[in-house]
Amino acid sequence: MAEQVRSNRQRELFIKKSTRVAASYLNRAMALSEMPDAAKPFFGTLENTFVNLRGIPLCAENSAEKRKTIGTLCVMVPAELVYAAGALPVRLCSGSYTAYAIGDDYIPRDACPLVKAVMGFGKIKALPVFDQCSLLVAPVTCDCKKKLSGVIGSVKNTVPLHIPPLKKEDADTEVFLRELYRLIPILEKETGRQITPQSLAEGIRTVGEAQYEMSEFLKYRKHAPALLHGTQVMAIMNAYAYMPADVWAGQMHKLNLEMKARLSQEHFISRPNQPRILVTGSPISFPNIKIPLLIEEMGGILAADETCMGERGLYDPVSVIDTSFDGMMRALASRYTKPCTCPVFVDNSQRVYRIKQMIKEHRIQGVVYHVLRGCLVYDYEYQIMEDELGKLDIPIIRVESDYNEEDVEQLRIRIEAFIELIKLKEYAKQKEAISEHTSMHKENVQE
Ligand code: SF4
Ligand code: SF4
Repeated sequence: MAEQVRSNRQRELFIKKSTRVAASYLNRAMALSEMPDAAKPFFGTLENTFVNLRGIPLCAENSAEKRKTIGTLCVMVPAELVYAAGALPVRLCSGSYTAYAIGDDYIPRDACPLVKAVMGFGKIKALPVFDQCSLLVAPVTCDCKKKLSGVIGSVKNTVPLHIPPLKKEDADTEVFLRELYRLIPILEKETGRQITPQSLAEGIRTVGEAQYEMSEFLKYRKHAPALLHGTQVMAIMNAYAYMPADVWAGQMHKLNLEMKARLSQEHFISRPNQPRILVTGSPISFPNIKIPLLIEEMGGILAADETCMGERGLYDPVSVIDTSFDGMMRALASRYTKPCTCPVFVDNSQRVYRIKQMIKEHRIQGVVYHVLRGCLVYDYEYQIMEDELGKLDIPIIRVESDYNEEDVEQLRIRIEAFIELIKLKEYAKQKEAISEHTSMHKENVQE
């Protein structure tokens, strides 16, 4: 009895604290600039999930029959297969500070905060979106996720999914293909629905629509001056984790129309000289959006992100050439490993290439490299990135953070100084260009 009272009290405290933090981050993100009307439902989804604790109402509202919800813990778990089994995938990589504090009691001290937060949700049973899931598909990627996929099994029915550490050779893709085939009967048993060639094709089409709308949206995101704050974009991308892909795509289509109108009316939310920043590194999962917020509250524009709760989740469609069942499965295995820029793979040259490409396309002037405490895979990559960006004369800063608000002031100071550095660099470049132009003009006059 006493134990029950204690656990109810802990649950109440958790709900109070975690909803307060989530509401405060949502409000700060919305206050950055006037949001397009079509962006509001994405914020509504995050509010329902983390503040009002209503679970996934969109799932029930938009499907004729009530679908099962399957939790996934990585962007490399093909959502198409979950849709093909008639279920709704939700991404449970959590950014909750309160859940992290609970998970800290069950996971070793030096593990990253993301896995502690997932464990915390499993233990406290206060987040409907987590509790609604009847099954978790947990990837075996970094050490933290690998061990999490073992321990989370004590609170939730979990299936680990082996991700090969190499991805270049066809033999590596074959390993993942076998894993995906192994997943099929598990999903079918869970949902009671068979995955057929038709349902798989439909799953690929559904996710493909979201990818298409995302690619349209990126055209607007690249615009300088910016049409929308990057923190708001990250919230929209995080909302994808908790919405059916077709509902998200439909809303994104409306947002794209509004972005088009903003562009034609020259309705910009940034000045032409505001430093354009790319954020990359460890996942930025709602409500832990303190890094994007700090960048934009300090005067930068988050013009792009290379993170798995952001653009990376939807950057490449599944390319199906052979429409047989096996052909579609092979296309999935290839799409979810080969182009993936997550540093859990041994060779990461693609990641460097992708970030350089984004710097060019989004006219990036500085990179914020985010490392969650204990996230070794991203930290390993920092030095390579610093060396490569040094050759391009693009400033980069490594910021380490944890799931709490204690490091905010220190991060604020460092990010502010970084933004000032970019401004000074740009100013010096412009001065040099003007003086070159003036001396050329003088030479022409003398001739
Ligand atoms: S960082 Fe990599 S392993 Fe972790 S969730 Fe993202 S894609 Fe998966
Ligand atoms: S990739 Fe980093 S943030 Fe993600 S689970 Fe592994 S250690 Fe944690």
